[in-house]
Amino acid sequence: MAGSSLHSLIPPWQEDIGTNWAGNLHYSAKKLHRPQSVEEAQEIISQANKINTLGTRHSFSNIADCPEELLSTGAFNKVVKLDPKSMTVTVEAGIRYGELAIYLEENGFALHNLASLPHISVGGACATATHGSGDKNGNLASIVKAMEIIKADGNTVQLSDGDPDFSAAVVHLGALGVITKLTLAIQPTYQVQQEIFEHLPLDAAVEHFNDIFGSGYSVSFFTDWSKEEINQVWIKRRIDSKGKLPSLSEFYGASPATKNMHPIASVSAENCTDQMSVPGAWHERLPHFKLDFTPSNGEELQSEFFVPRSEAPNALLAIQSLNSQITPLLFISEVRSIAADDFWMSTAEGGDRIAFHFTWKPDWEGVQKVLPLLEKKLEPFSARPHWGKLFHMQAQEINDRYPKVEDFKSLARRYDPEGKFRNAFLTRNIFGAM
Ligand SMILES: Cc1cc2nc3c(=O)[nH]c(=O)nc-3n(C[C@H](O)[C@H](O)[C@H](O)COP(=O)(O)OP(=O)(O)OC[C@H]3O[C@@H](n4cnc5c(N)ncnc54)[C@H](O)[C@@H]3O)c2cc1C
Repeated sequence: MAGSSLHSLIPPWQEDIGTNWAGNLHYSAKKLHRPQSVEEAQEIISQANKINTLGTRHSFSNIADCPEELLSTGAFNKVVKLDPKSMTVTVEAGIRYGELAIYLEENGFALHNLASLPHISVGGACATATHGSGDKNGNLASIVKAMEIIKADGNTVQLSDGDPDFSAAVVHLGALGVITKLTLAIQPTYQVQQEIFEHLPLDAAVEHFNDIFGSGYSVSFFTDWSKEEINQVWIKRRIDSKGKLPSLSEFYGASPATKNMHPIASVSAENCTDQMSVPGAWHERLPHFKLDFTPSNGEELQSEFFVPRSEAPNALLAIQSLNSQITPLLFISEVRSIAADDFWMSTAEGGDRIAFHFTWKPDWEGVQKVLPLLEKKLEPFSARPHWGKLFHMQAQEINDRYPKVEDFKSLARRYDPEGKFRNAFLTRNIFGAM
């Protein structure tokens, strides 16, 4: 999966689809379709034997790959309808959050949350339960109100909140078909101010975990596990009255940052969103990185594991105990909170979750060795892996952690009876269980 460099082996009659964003995966598909209309996409899908959808290529796992054909949603990048009456926006699935956010802000509206960077497509993000942080914030899929899917036979289906298949279909892992449009809940625009504290003692993080994560609209820990402390706490507070909030001074033994920071303290903060309590629009504070900063491709790997909220302090200590194996392979870890939802295959299905994320150095050999150790440490907490990132566990373990997985498989078989969209990732991790 990672580290392949198949470029020179691709015969001239095949199309080279290239790699994912990180460069750790060379897509094995032989043809990339770029349909310009729903009708064209329907035709391509109905003719295909094996096909999958490609969003903005930000997954580290091979979830978006296919041995035969891929269909890019790149041309489906427009806002279809803004409806202030129902407080919804309908978008084509290939639009990136960054462009959608600017459009909404210009019209006086906002989304509830954003991921760490805004370059990801709405369709691809919702498919894998991509999330930001916030005790009261569900993942990005949690505001989906309706969607249009092209099924394996080429016919379209419209699903809305309340329809029997809706809760199964919102976080679908690419298994049901191609999503062409999504309707999302919006809210009036709001401002956010961002503050950072450094060197939070680990004891304080464990003891006051809930209070710390409750201290802002969106809170993240950044740490490299090298010491008995959390390197940085990022607190994004929402300002509904437009007035700046007084800066936080005392913070559980941590020190306030004296300048803008990057999550890795030694790296320049110029590409990071503004901090130091300077208020700004929601879309210029909720992501950690600016939209006009295009991150260089790759040079990193990522993994992430979700544990029930109540288990998070113990999970934090369990990971800390592996620091001698983790830290040498790591750029940085991030810890975030996600509110519960009821989407069958969502990592936050059934209860609030805390997500432990790892941005690894591009050393797949080393990461491959540490992942089973990490997963073993997190086994008592029934940790679920992020679908778009790298993990070791396989179908049986994963199936055991999703109570509705059999219903999801039945639904996938109904939408796609011949397994047109069933790729190696879905077989290994979902359908391969006994
Ligand atoms: C630098 C970086 C930062 C990240 N930050 C975060 C973060 O803050 N939080 C987080 O949770 N994750 C994060 N991720 C992971 C990322 O959000 C997910 O992997 C996401 O699914 C990527 O979306 P994409 O559009 O690139 O989809 P792809 O990777 O192209 O595809 C992902 C899946 O979605 C399916 N898909 C895509 N579009 C459609 C569609 N229209 N219809 C049907 N299926 C579709 C694909 O078939 C595949 O199954 C990050 C990744 C990177 C590289």
